[in-house]
Order: sequence, then C-alpha cells, then structure tokens
Amino acid sequence: MAGNKDFDLYRPSEEHDELRKVVRSLAEAKIAPFAAEVDEEGRFPQEALDALTASDLHAVHVPEEFGGAGADALATVIVIEEVARVCASSSLIPAVNKLGSLPVVLSGSDELKKKYLGPLAKGEGMFSYCLSEPDAGSDAAGMKTRAVRDGDFWVLNGVKRWITNAGVSEYYTVMAVTDPEKRSKGISAFVVEKSDEGVSFGAPEKKLGIKGSPTREVYLDNVRIPADRMIGEEGTGFATAMKTLDHTRITIAAQALGIAQGALDYAKGYVQERKQFGKPIADFQGVQFMLADMAMKIEAARQLTYAAAAKSERGDSDLTFQGAAAKCFASDVAMEVTVDAVQLLGGYGYTRDYPVERMMRDAKITQIYEGTNQVQRIVMARNLP
Ligand SMILES: Cc1cc2nc3c(=O)[nH]c(=O)nc-3n(C[C@H](O)[C@H](O)[C@H](O)COP(=O)(O)OP(=O)(O)OC[C@H]3O[C@@H](n4cnc5c(N)ncnc54)[C@H](O)[C@@H]3O)c2cc1C
Repeated sequence: MAGNKDFDLYRPSEEHDELRKVVRSLAEAKIAPFAAEVDEEGRFPQEALDALTASDLHAVHVPEEFGGAGADALATVIVIEEVARVCASSSLIPAVNKLGSLPVVLSGSDELKKKYLGPLAKGEGMFSYCLSEPDAGSDAAGMKTRAVRDGDFWVLNGVKRWITNAGVSEYYTVMAVTDPEKRSKGISAFVVEKSDEGVSFGAPEKKLGIKGSPTREVYLDNVRIPADRMIGEEGTGFATAMKTLDHTRITIAAQALGIAQGALDYAKGYVQERKQFGKPIADFQGVQFMLADMAMKIEAARQLTYAAAAKSERGDSDLTFQGAAAKCFASDVAMEVTVDAVQLLGGYGYTRDYPVERMMRDAKITQIYEGTNQVQRIVMARNLP
C-alpha cells in the first residue's frame, strides 16, 4: 500500500471544514442578498469586498510573514468556492487578489513583497494581473506593451485588455517586453500602481456574465517606475506569469465548482416544491437522473480541484497538467450543470426572477479566462502524465 504521502487526494482537515462553515455563513448572510442586484446593475460588489475584508477573507493566500492569513492552496480554494456558490462576481475578489499578487510572492524581492503584500493583506489595496492585450490573448507571448530602461527607471507604454478589477485595484502586475528579439524570454514583470502618472482605464466591458466584476483596459502612457519595481530578473516575466497560472487556474476551477454547486443546490430545492401531474417534479425519474448526473460531475470536479490544490501547495512536478485539467474539467462541468439547472426550473429558470440563469451566464467565463479550455488542452497535451 502506498503511504499517505504518495496519495494524491487531499482530504480537507477539520480546519478546512471549519473555514468552509465560516465562509458559507458569511457568503449567505452578506454576499448572497446583493448577488442579483450586482448582476442586474453591473456594479462592483462593494458589500462583498467589505464583508470579506472585515473577516480577513479577501486575500487569504498572503503568507503570514507579510501580514497575511497564510492560507494554504486548499483553504484558498474553499474560500473562492463558497463565495462563488452565491455570487461568482464576488469570488473574483479573493481569486484575482491571488492572481495579481502571486508573481510577487513567487518571484519578487523581499522588499517588493514587504511593500505590496502587507497593504494587500490589510485590505488597503487589491491586485490585478495584466497579461492579455487586444491582439495577444491565447498567444500571450505576442504582447506589444514595451518597457524601456532609462537610468534607474523603466518607462512602460502599451494597452492591456480584459483586466479584472481594473480601476478598483491599487496594484497591477504588468508583463511587458524588455527585449523584442527574445519573444517570451524578452518579457519582464513589473508592479505598476494605479496612482502612477500615465496609468488610466477604459470603459467597463459590457459582458454576458460576472457583471459585478469590472473588466477594463489598462492604458500605460509613458509610465515611469523605479527599476526596483521589476518582479524577479529581467526576461523572467513570462515564465513567472505562466508559473502563476499553474497555481491560479485551480482557483478558477474552484470558482466553477462553486457556481455549479450553487445551481445544483437551488435546483434541488425547486424540484421538491414545484408540482406537475399532481406531484413534486422531484418524484419523476427523469428529473432524479438529471440531479444525480449533476451531483456526480460536481463531485468529480471537486476531487480533481482539491487534488490539484494539494499539488499546488506541495509544488509537485505535475502541477501544470493537474491545474489545467482541474480548470478545464470543472469549468465544463459548471457549464453543463448550470444549463441543466435552468432546464429543471423550466420557463421560470429562463427568467431573472430566479438565480440559475445568472449562474449559467457566469459559468461561461470559467471556460474562457486564464486560458481558454482549448489552451488548457494544449497545456495538458504538452505535459501528459
Ligand atoms: C471577463 C474577462 C476577464 C478577464 N480577466 C483577465 C485578467 O484579469 N488579466 C488578463 O491578463 N486577462 C484577462 N482576461 C483575458 C482572457 O484570459 C483571454 O480572453 C483569453 O486568454 C483568450 O484570449 P482572447 O480573448 O484573445 O481569445 P483568442 O486567443 O483570440 O481565441 C479565440 C478562440 O480561438 C481559440 N484558439 C486560439 N489559439 C488556439 C490554438 N492554438 N488552438 C486551438 N484553439 C485556439 C481559443 O480557444 C478561442 O476559442 C479576461 C477575459 C475576460 C473575458
């Protein structure tokens, strides 16, 4: 028998279970009541940010030595999953705080970590992640944003597109070309601040889902920043950006999982109440089989996601495959399960009077961002176990 160390699945500890209870009750009391309104009005979920920050759940991944909660990868997944269960837009607060700051955690100097992770942990400023551009999405290494050295400074020019929480965040990890001859090895990462001269933002995108999460362009117009704002060595920015995604795709899997669970939970309640042909529709085998399939897929996605979180925590060599697999699988499950939830509510499910159509629209993004699911398959194929 393989010892526990060799066993891939990561059984949540009592502490993890306790954390889930705390986040679930906070999410139900303080985030769920605003989820429909945030979606309808396309506004930032300030109530969620306030509630998460007050409970120190807005950026749980920040290590204790930098003033954070020091949550492990599974605990971070549980926070995101439980918030997404009631409001996907709000779950992007803890998720993108991790995405934006992980390059600093993984590759930043101690000074950079102290300077930026402390304020993030205290709730003084959120972090965004700026990799994508108008003409560089799946082929992110084809970016055009330039950083040119000028004495003790770097001067950045370019446009980053689709940046989650842009305008709300104080801090931005920006990937920019420092040596155009070297393609991905000529890209470096920097921390840019919202208050840096030359930083501005485009109009919020009008989206299908996650309407409460602002997505905007970030314009960099001769932004002059001190050289010590570079994250890691010159030319290592793309590698840091990809390493970051290995860890954070698991948080998108967590978001997908939460959305799917929220849809199943709602549908489960509805089918007991709704009567047709003189009995609750839950009594029909056709409905029961749909619910069974939904629950089965969610459980498979959960096991894959938690196992990936364990790999992220341990830094296992097969993390790249597992993170991509978890994100790809869980997001496909979220899409299938939310479509089925709409189906189970019939005509009512198709209206905005019920939350499942929002969940279906929100689920779609999990198949697209942090690399589309086609890109995840490329990543998996290149890293087959
Ligand atoms: C709401 C939202 C929030 C986002 N947040 C952020 C963020 O915070 N930071 C950030 O940097 N980016 C962010 N993104 C960008 C996101 O990661 C990209 O949209 C995504 O990587 C796809 O890039 P693209 O949109 O340019 O699509 P494209 O790359 O143009 O892809 C179009 C289609 O072609 C397919 N395709 C492309 N290449 C291949 C291939 N080699 N093989 C097979 N199929 C392929 C794709 O899978 C897709 O179906 C966000 C996007 C959205 C919509």
